[in-house]
Amino acid sequence: MSDNYNIQNYINGSFSVSTNTEEIKNINPSDSSIINSFKETSIEDVESAIDVAKKSQSKWSKTPAIERASYLKKIAEGIRKNEDEFVRIIVEEQGKIKDLAKGEVQGAANYLDYTAEWARRIEGEIVTSDSPDENIFIFKIPMGVVSGILPWNFPFFLIVRKLAPALVTGNTIVIKASEETSNNAYMFSKLLDAAGVPKGVVNFVYGRGQTVGKLLSSSKKIDMISFTGSVETGSAIMTEAAKNITKVNLELGGKAPALVLADADIDLAVSKIRDARVINSGQVCNCVERVYVDKKIADEFTEKLTKAMQNTKFGNPNTKTDIDYGPLINEDGSKKVSELVNSAKGSGAEILTGGNRDESSEGIYYHPTVIANCKQDMRIIQEEIFGPVLPLVEFEDLDQAIEYANDSDYGLTSSIFTNNLKTALKACNEIRFGETMINRDNMEIFQSFHAGLRKSGIGGADGKHGLYEYMQTHAVYMRA
Ligand code: NAD
Repeated sequence: MSDNYNIQNYINGSFSVSTNTEEIKNINPSDSSIINSFKETSIEDVESAIDVAKKSQSKWSKTPAIERASYLKKIAEGIRKNEDEFVRIIVEEQGKIKDLAKGEVQGAANYLDYTAEWARRIEGEIVTSDSPDENIFIFKIPMGVVSGILPWNFPFFLIVRKLAPALVTGNTIVIKASEETSNNAYMFSKLLDAAGVPKGVVNFVYGRGQTVGKLLSSSKKIDMISFTGSVETGSAIMTEAAKNITKVNLELGGKAPALVLADADIDLAVSKIRDARVINSGQVCNCVERVYVDKKIADEFTEKLTKAMQNTKFGNPNTKTDIDYGPLINEDGSKKVSELVNSAKGSGAEILTGGNRDESSEGIYYHPTVIANCKQDMRIIQEEIFGPVLPLVEFEDLDQAIEYANDSDYGLTSSIFTNNLKTALKACNEIRFGETMINRDNMEIFQSFHAGLRKSGIGGADGKHGLYEYMQTHAVYMRA
């Protein structure tokens, strides 16, 4: 067992060892070995992190935005200098392949620089009054103290996706990493300290959702909860937030449909759908999770997709580079994937390739899987599945494809493959999702807006709209 990390809380600019006795083990999913273990932050320490964030907020919000942004740039520099170390930690504790971890780390640094550029572009409004001697100003002001509660699937990037907009708009923040991936957050807090971010502006605490997460959702001193994770947890957080009418920003699960029309470039569709399914072992909110294919091209498409999945390689990302994906995050994740695949089999779907876990390894690996003859009401079409599994449904015409796509509790990402402008336009206008990708993979870009309809969330992240999520308005009526 490595003791390299020795996780400590970061509160008010100081590192402290938790006095809690509750210990959490950090497991490497590639071989199920224990990387290290750490103590959960005590309730008293979480409260003190919230208190210092509250105390520091007024001074921080009065610091010129351009100066606040300079810290984001310093953190970005620090990330770039330590890229290899962060990549190693993310691969080790989360199990993504090195290239993807590299993209995550570089993306985080770029996101900080991008957000810093907003410092001089935050604008309020002047509204015409009914009275000639009055001006009405609408100021944009920070929310106050934000709590950032993170999942494990893009653990490093998501720190930045919450911290950067919160800080540049004048908020302070208390961050809780996922208990599955806390080492990268601890190393991030060290970097933050080295960048000289003023004390109390950013605080890191560690532990489980039911304890630390719950306090970060239920405290009256928190002004906004920025959460990324499952629908179930989002709902529990809303219940706590409701007691204090705390603002929630929720980035939740997805069940992205891909629509493949008869006039699509089939090779392009196969390649993009495969990529958008196996990325991060199929554990991304915007992964393609159900494919609707026109009956007229179903045979050719299915054959090519099955071949592409059969040629997809998985393995231990700590030691291998010629692989497309690594392990699933934990045993629970693997059980859920198996349960949904078995349920589809039991309901008459046909496994064309894969359909089971790789038992030859200590780690948690699932074979690339294609399942044909799926029906709209099957659990595998309705429930989120975090694994490299592609269920296929055939459709008669565009109206039916759109109806199937919209028939979901989730409404985050969707994609369409067609070379017909009319078809693309109709689908864009009728598909009810926060994001629609046409003839491409599903990865979003940070100057856009990442948000989901229905149970996929409330509010969103990135770009101008994501930034303004971290602000509220103050209307001032001024008469001389
Ligand atoms: P999760 O909901 O199990 O956990 C997320 C975080 O919530 C963890 O830090 C956990 O400790 C905490 N938590 C758990 N119970 C809590 C409670 N009662 N109160 C407060 N906090 C609590 O999710 P996960 O398994 O870490 O992540 C996977 C999920 O995240 C998937 O559903 C995925 O689609 C979603 N996700 C969404 C986006 C997006 O942008 N929409 C991005 C990444 C992941």
